[in-house]
Amino acid sequence: MFKNNSGAFIGVDLGGTNVRVGLFLEDGQILNWQQDEILAVRGPQAGLQKIYRLIESVLVGANQPLAGIGIGSTGPIDRLRGCIQNPYTLPGWEDVDIVSPLREKYKVPIAFENDADSAALGEYWMGAGQGKERVMMVTFGTGIGTGLVLNGKIYRGVDGAHPEGGHILIDPNGPECYCGARGCWESLASGPAIAAYAQQLPFQEGSYIAQHSGSDPQEITAALIFAGDRDGDQTCVHIVDRAAQHIGLGLVSLMMVTLPDCIVLGGGVMRSFERMKPRINAIIEKHHVIIPAKKVRLEMAALGQQAGIYGAAKAAINLFEEQ
Ligand SMILES: [Zn+2]
Repeated sequence: MFKNNSGAFIGVDLGGTNVRVGLFLEDGQILNWQQDEILAVRGPQAGLQKIYRLIESVLVGANQPLAGIGIGSTGPIDRLRGCIQNPYTLPGWEDVDIVSPLREKYKVPIAFENDADSAALGEYWMGAGQGKERVMMVTFGTGIGTGLVLNGKIYRGVDGAHPEGGHILIDPNGPECYCGARGCWESLASGPAIAAYAQQLPFQEGSYIAQHSGSDPQEITAALIFAGDRDGDQTCVHIVDRAAQHIGLGLVSLMMVTLPDCIVLGGGVMRSFERMKPRINAIIEKHHVIIPAKKVRLEMAALGQQAGIYGAAKAAINLFEEQ
């Protein structure tokens, strides 16, 4: 157990596109934060230099000594070895030790978490899950990330592994997923999955999709489909109905296993939550006899893009509280 936790804590959120760094006090007050593009293709050394610069920058003018640093990184990661393993979103960063250089440079304890876990911890600490004992967070973006926080601690699987809720099976006849299975949740309900389904549908000249994509399937994005749904285009309404169905089925599965106080919903796809809400709720309501569905609240994420830095800082603070 670390002894001296008086001071400020850094939270680093390392994504495939951006890196964010925030400076926090133990009570959750954010003192400063900054972000920059990570430009992963330039390699891990350049990325690390960028992280150092952001850390130095948020520390300018801080009155408190630095007590700890937490990192939430896009996965997969090897938490115990402190290594990023991801060749998908951080190309060239395979098996990169990110913890040792930060520990050697700043001489403080370093926490290292999967970014879905750190976002969940952030929302539990200062966001939509505040004051709840059991908080599940689901982030619908490029993939579907899940994190579960129980009594203030990130739930971990065997060998400290991070549970991958994005790969629960929704439809065995669904599209192939990169994990090797078919019909995983994220192959049906992530942003790219919604776009991929739309891209292979026939569309008529002059239709909403044709007009807004220039009749180029590659230009059909989830955002375009959600805009078409709001506009009342019937094809887009169908695609969003289907996405809402898959989102609802996945949420029911998570509820069945974990029965959290709340599921916090985040990510770009959830910007259209209000449109999908009645459809998602209808699926959840079907299970009300088994699950106390009305007790498991669906909450929109409250911290937005800052959830990761909040959670990473909290993970560093937790190092002082764990044995
Ligand atoms: Zn999968």
